[in-house]
Amino acid sequence: MPTSQTIEIPFYIAAFLISLTCMVYTLIQNRQDKLQNKVYLGMLLCLLLNTATETLCAFLDPYRLDSAAVRFVMELCQYLYFIFHTAMLPMLGYYVISVTGIFRRFDRTKHLLFLLPALLTELLMLTNPLNHWSYYYDENMIFTRNWGETFLYASSVLYFAFVMVNLFRSWKAITAKRRAALSYFFLMVVGGILVQLVNINLRVELFGESLAYLGVLLSVENEDDLLDPETGIYNRRALRMDLDNLLVNRQGFHAVCVKVENADIIRRLTGSAGTGALTVLLLDEFLRHIPRYLIYQTAPDTFVMTLMGRDRAQAQAFAQQISERFDRPWSHHHGELMLSATTILAEIPTDIDNTEDVFNMADSSLPGDHARRLFSREDLGYLLRRREVESAVQRGLDQGGFEVYYQPTYYADGKRIHGAEALVRLHDDKLGRLFPDEFIPVAERIGLIGEIDDYVLRSVCAFLAGGLPAQLGLECINVNLSVLQCLQPGFVDHILSIVEAAGVDHAQINFEITESVDAADYRVLSAVVHEFRRAGFQISIDDYGTGYSNMQALFAMEFDVVKIDKSILWEAQKSSLGRIILENSVRMIRQMNRKILVEGVETAEQIELLAQLGVDYLQGFYFSRPVPLDALLKLLKN
Ligand code: C2E
Ligand code: CA
Ligand code: CA
Repeated sequence: MPTSQTIEIPFYIAAFLISLTCMVYTLIQNRQDKLQNKVYLGMLLCLLLNTATETLCAFLDPYRLDSAAVRFVMELCQYLYFIFHTAMLPMLGYYVISVTGIFRRFDRTKHLLFLLPALLTELLMLTNPLNHWSYYYDENMIFTRNWGETFLYASSVLYFAFVMVNLFRSWKAITAKRRAALSYFFLMVVGGILVQLVNINLRVELFGESLAYLGVLLSVENEDDLLDPETGIYNRRALRMDLDNLLVNRQGFHAVCVKVENADIIRRLTGSAGTGALTVLLLDEFLRHIPRYLIYQTAPDTFVMTLMGRDRAQAQAFAQQISERFDRPWSHHHGELMLSATTILAEIPTDIDNTEDVFNMADSSLPGDHARRLFSREDLGYLLRRREVESAVQRGLDQGGFEVYYQPTYYADGKRIHGAEALVRLHDDKLGRLFPDEFIPVAERIGLIGEIDDYVLRSVCAFLAGGLPAQLGLECINVNLSVLQCLQPGFVDHILSIVEAAGVDHAQINFEITESVDAADYRVLSAVVHEFRRAGFQISIDDYGTGYSNMQALFAMEFDVVKIDKSILWEAQKSSLGRIILENSVRMIRQMNRKILVEGVETAEQIELLAQLGVDYLQGFYFSRPVPLDALLKLLKN
């Protein structure tokens, strides 16, 4: 049988090497600015010293009685071992509360209370050579425990309990990955202690601890998934994690969101597609005010910063300072440039009380007044409204709150009805009647637009299948499609299955598509449109004149009708320039041999003007607002 020594030494050395590796790796990573990183390094240092002293002790053990020098070194090692081992559990406690964010709730008294047992135990250990209260070596160099050891165990149990309780309490505030890592940590530590308890010769406690630290390094300390690899700045995921953490811990703070509006200019100046150049430029500025780990980049041109422990006035001053920085030029290696940005300040949880809305604030553009650059508190009402609209959309789908309204379209003479456009409405018990301009963008963002469009198409098909529209002289019904939906794979088949199930003649449906897509998407969109037309549907290009790539839409897509946007018509009445645009748009589309519908017709003069120009169809409040189905039928029968 091997002696105890031959068993323990390899374990100690392995533990030493593992903790050394963890330490070197952490230092190479060069991220030691957060409290959490510092405590981790501290724990590693303790473990490293523990394993070093234990190894030395084990080596010297056979020669314990040989000389006074050996005796001295062994006693010194044991002394140092206890001093650092005592610090390990309290440090682990600190580590857990910094990872879970609980430490932010700690005031000075709590910190002191937390440290008290550790300080007392350390005092016992430090003074042990004088009083031997904790342990001593007898004349045969046999290690003997004294009552102080009991105190050490008691304090260890206390800290262990503290760690467990806090971990359990903030279980929800930590990510799954961190939960797994921390569970692994405890398994290893407790496992090591248990093995050593069962067989005192198997000294695996330190080895188990070193493995635990390695596990923590790989999962908790390693933040690769939370950082942008190019710029080393925290990403959306990190923001989500930290916000959840702060909110679960009921920690108040301020969030400052900076959205750069002309980020594109940087991309053009530097010639790179990456966002690095902009980030570097802004980061330099931000870092002058707050530490790196409180800055997050949520989109190429959007940054969120979290401010801790500042009052409203301080936070306001900070936001003001950031906002005003954009009044001055930014220098980069090609020269100087002006950037324009919106800054939003939100107090959490007063203004915003959930993670999702912080992201909404960062992701959506502010509605309304854009003369100002700095927004706060009262400007954030739209987030609340948005959230309410989101729930209303969900309720509407669950409880059948949607209704299809129809707005008739007329021939150019303004006398005969040509068709009707289906326009969706939402009736909500809480918010009243909602208009699509408000809820369609919301539905698109929460992924429910497909269900709404399906509902509208099914209703239209049900109407058409009854045969009434044809009897009453309606040539077709126009149905709006969301471009987002059109770009989904399998979209055409999906639409076909709905129309076929109702047994409706395809020619009676005219799909309206807004051309507001990226040029890159045109290839997909035009293929979809081609398939629709091959299946016999009609296609209208909606909102002509509002996008920035109308020509391209006319070029890339097959279509039957162009719907000229109401703003073009209204502009034509106001200015001669507007008139030129309308006239030439009409002329061009006519030369292409396509039909033209002008919407937004509100007056008799407009009808006269449009008749002169030779458009084909009209739509507008002059004839009728969008109305429920029965009202449309009444209108048709008259
Ligand atoms: P759009 O397709 O351009 O629809 C025309 C909008 O202009 C309608 O607003 C209509 O009520 C309004 N309008 C029509 N004539 C006049 C007029 O003479 N004067 C004025 N001031 N307005 C007029 P609505 O119903 O609020 O719809 C807004 C937008 O919501 C629609 O714009 C369309 O893009 C979208 N939308 C409506 N229903 C649906 C739908 O079922 N699916 C999808 N994806 N989008 C829809
Ligand atoms: Ca439309
Ligand atoms: Ca339109």
